Amino acid sequence: MYRVSVVKCENYERQNAAKAMHASLNNLGGIHKFVKNGDKVLVKANLVMRKKPGDGVTTHPSLVEALCREVLEAGGVPIIGDSPGGPYNQTALRAVYRATGMEDVAKTTGAVLNYDTDIREVSHPQGSVIKNLTVMNCVEKADVVISFAKLKTHGMMLFTGAVKNLFGVIPGILKAEYHFNMPDTGDFANMLVDVCTYIKPKLSIIDGVVGMEGEGPSSGRLVNSGIILASENPFALDFAAVSLIGIDPNDVPTIIKARHRGLFTGDMNNIQLLGDGMGGLAIKRFNTPAIVNASFIEGKYPRFIVDMINRMVKPEPVFDLESCAACGDCYRVCPPGAITMQDNKPRVDLDKCIRCFCCQELCFHGSVKIYRPWLLRAIHRRKKRTRRFRNEF
Ligand code: SF4
Ligand code: SF4
Repeated sequence: MYRVSVVKCENYERQNAAKAMHASLNNLGGIHKFVKNGDKVLVKANLVMRKKPGDGVTTHPSLVEALCREVLEAGGVPIIGDSPGGPYNQTALRAVYRATGMEDVAKTTGAVLNYDTDIREVSHPQGSVIKNLTVMNCVEKADVVISFAKLKTHGMMLFTGAVKNLFGVIPGILKAEYHFNMPDTGDFANMLVDVCTYIKPKLSIIDGVVGMEGEGPSSGRLVNSGIILASENPFALDFAAVSLIGIDPNDVPTIIKARHRGLFTGDMNNIQLLGDGMGGLAIKRFNTPAIVNASFIEGKYPRFIVDMINRMVKPEPVFDLESCAACGDCYRVCPPGAITMQDNKPRVDLDKCIRCFCCQELCFHGSVKIYRPWLLRAIHRRKKRTRRFRNEF
């Protein structure tokens, strides 16, 4: 049985956050179960870009503060770290820590902010698609890693929670290589599962007080879900989280792969919900980005029909040149180099584009939209209707 704690937390007011964090950890046996005296504890928050706490993109500082206080209480040394998109250097980290409120957390609690930008090559013989990976040095130095994610939808992976959050341990622009080498959604999901099985977070937490639906992980709509979820098992945690926000777990590539690989065998019957559980919670269903492809007709029709439908449902990035600030970030992060800057504005070569949507995720100004063809939207609507029908009857 996998144990998942679900605790109500209506807002980020400090006292509420501290109380809810304490209850979440207690449901799983208390912080002492995870942290021993003297442990260096990497709090791997989601700090994907230099957004303010109120933007709902990054893990909220009052919850990070609450967790750091718990770690200190257990005698551990909390180290807050992540590798945002873009260059992995101290200047970039400082800007992200300041904007996201982590600098204040460090000041008020004494937690350490990671400024070690060394990287390490490590081997992972049990990996399915990657046997070697490059990670932030602070991961290797930590005794305990806690994945502290944000409850959000994702343009490529449908959902980003405890498992996807750990992709942040791949330093800065090296992430682009992983995207480039694994443009297929299934391979990329397998790689994320590999990263997770390498890191082996001792504890995973999701900040779902305010989540993000639609065009997540950075340009979607904020949703007040008012919950904190936690578990020792990141796959079970993601499974429970998506079930709670109305996403079918069978649509989430990382959950599919983890199950396929026998890393997580559960369904909701194998998950023991602790704390407030799901019963009395009125959590809004999240609108999801359409990421369907023609895999559902694979084997039933000739290859050329499957390929034709895949071409017809392919989403594509579209640049709003009016709001574009010509910063060139999208050009720098694009894994296959499909973006060029012409007259200071981005232009995309769709033949080269691998649909990773890093450009959309990392555009600070929200100037990259995702265009989804009518057939893709129609299939997505139909899937949603069928699911609602199944749930209602
Ligand atoms: S689309 Fe966004 S990331 Fe790209 S240049 Fe414009 S503002 Fe910068
Ligand atoms: S244009 Fe955007 S979606 Fe296409 S490959 Fe580049 S970053 Fe990925």
